Amino acid sequence: MTETTSAMPRIHVLDPRLANQIAAGEVVERPASVTKELIENAIDAGSQRIEVDIEAGGARLIKIRDDGVGIGEQDLPLALARHATSKIDSLEDLEGVSSLGFRGEALASISSVSRLELVSNALDDPRQGWRVVAEGRGMETRVTPAPHPRGTSVSVRDLFFNTPARRKFLRTEKTEFAHVEEAFRRQALSRYDIAWTLRHNQKVVHQLPPGNSEAARERRIASLLGNNFIEHARYIEREAGALRLSGWVGLPTHSRAQADQQYFFVNGRVVRDRLVAHAVRQAYRDVLYNGRHPVFVLYLTLDPDVVDVNVHPTKHEVRFRDGRMVHDFLYSSLHHSLADARPNAEDVSGDSSSLTSAQEEAPADPARWQQQGMALSPSASPSNDRHPGGERVRRFMQGYQALHPDHEETLLTPQPTGHEGESIKAQGNVREAPLAMPHSDPTSAPPLGYALGQLHGVYILAQNAHGLVLVDMHAAHERIVYERMKNQLAASRVDTQPLLVPVSLAASRSEVATVESEREAIATLGVELDVAGPETLLVRQLPALLSQADPEALVREMLEELARFGRTHQVEARIHELLSSMACHGSVRANRRLTLDEMNALLRDMERTERSDQCNHGRPTWTQMDMKALDRLFMRGQ
Ligand code: ADP
Ligand code: MG
Repeated sequence: MTETTSAMPRIHVLDPRLANQIAAGEVVERPASVTKELIENAIDAGSQRIEVDIEAGGARLIKIRDDGVGIGEQDLPLALARHATSKIDSLEDLEGVSSLGFRGEALASISSVSRLELVSNALDDPRQGWRVVAEGRGMETRVTPAPHPRGTSVSVRDLFFNTPARRKFLRTEKTEFAHVEEAFRRQALSRYDIAWTLRHNQKVVHQLPPGNSEAARERRIASLLGNNFIEHARYIEREAGALRLSGWVGLPTHSRAQADQQYFFVNGRVVRDRLVAHAVRQAYRDVLYNGRHPVFVLYLTLDPDVVDVNVHPTKHEVRFRDGRMVHDFLYSSLHHSLADARPNAEDVSGDSSSLTSAQEEAPADPARWQQQGMALSPSASPSNDRHPGGERVRRFMQGYQALHPDHEETLLTPQPTGHEGESIKAQGNVREAPLAMPHSDPTSAPPLGYALGQLHGVYILAQNAHGLVLVDMHAAHERIVYERMKNQLAASRVDTQPLLVPVSLAASRSEVATVESEREAIATLGVELDVAGPETLLVRQLPALLSQADPEALVREMLEELARFGRTHQVEARIHELLSSMACHGSVRANRRLTLDEMNALLRDMERTERSDQCNHGRPTWTQMDMKALDRLFMRGQ
């Protein structure tokens, strides 16, 4: 008893420096986070010009100079104190906060882990001004006179000099500067009315005049994100009630392997928000090949009262009062903008037409499909065989010709990049053209020909009347599965396939709850799930098209998405998005060996599937090299 008491640590109040250093752990991660906080202060001060000077990636110096309102002599020591801010007074202020800062923590935290100097002048007389220094020791500060033009300069030297463990985590100068530059880029994209400069080791990296016109704004974007970005993006503007979305969206053809050029601002604050990310991803899903990332710079403005920015210390996340409404607005705005941006827009949105033709057509050669009804033809069940045969092939050929009007002459590489305009035109013409196959081909071989073999487990090589056809098998199959699921769903008859052995799945309570509240939606999707225990689910049945998918991965993704939106009448509208991700699970993976029969089955599937060729989707599923082109490669007959 006595021993326990003596070993028990006593409670005491932390000394202010330590408290600040602990708080710094949250906001001050690296030079880039310091840069972000200081720039935000400069913006909040109403600056017209902000200059950022960095030395040694920010480890040696981060200096931000602005021409904002400045800080008066009396307020200077307070600026560095914790929980001291000029931006809010009350809880009501917090609820409608429009400044970037309001926690009153940044300067206190930064000064506890660096040598910070702040010089400021709140008057128009440049002979005035005051300096305050904090060296990370005690938190006491001294104010001395120091002339400065109106505005503020904050210099942060030797970041983490007194917290060696954290200093060790700093990466190379180059890496740290890259992060600083990214922080700068985000801020510079948030305010076109401000002139910006960024220097590293005295060299100018960005010099951005105010963007007073659209052209000037686009110049700024080009210098921050590259010419490529702006050349392949289009400006959009949408409004609904108090919500407004504007900015630049990259065309699907200009996607990237990393999600690095994605900027989303909510009331001028850059956020990385799950709800926003989800809406954007869904909007692009139908036009972007899986695994590619769109590029965009988007600005959402809404009443500050309906968004809570005080969710996270770095304020990178936000909480919308009506998240679903915001999500729907984003999704539908982007979806429409992208539909306008791509060729054959009506085709993509209008599924009813394909359905009509599906019903009109006679079943196309069911026997053959049955034969090949393995992974590649999950459509093996007879009811699936109402492929809209002739009509689709015709359309397919039209699309093909539209893309390759000079197919006799050229190396046919349907790469939409840089040719969006052309494809739009070509596709447009074709839609009005009579249904004919002018180069219908005497050997009556199918358009995509017959498979010759597989290349490195990724591509199918085939021979058709014109020469060589190359198919990306995963991309093609995913598209086929997706389109079929859409058709089945639209006809409310998703073909299902019971699992021979139900798969038991350890689930969270919230997943189980989702199963119970979303029974209807889940059934519509052709999935049968039983609740077998408080934390156990049984997968009994999957859509036939996805019978090859990993049931666990598929079900988890489905539940996650359903949970995010809850049951609403809009579940219907989301189902396509869901299907697309499900299709990916059910599709043949790269590196799977296929037999020639399977390859041919895939080619035939492609011919029968609407939109199975690349032009609408940002990434081709197949390409053609005709004989002339091949001859040219080898200089035959020249
Ligand atoms: P917050 O921004 O959350 O208020 P900070 O610690 O970042 O907290 O800044 C504390 C206060 O110092 C601010 O509220 C503001 O009054 C003042 N301040 C900081 N930087 C500047 C600046 N560049 N110009 C004018 N005032 C500033
Ligand atoms: Mg601040």
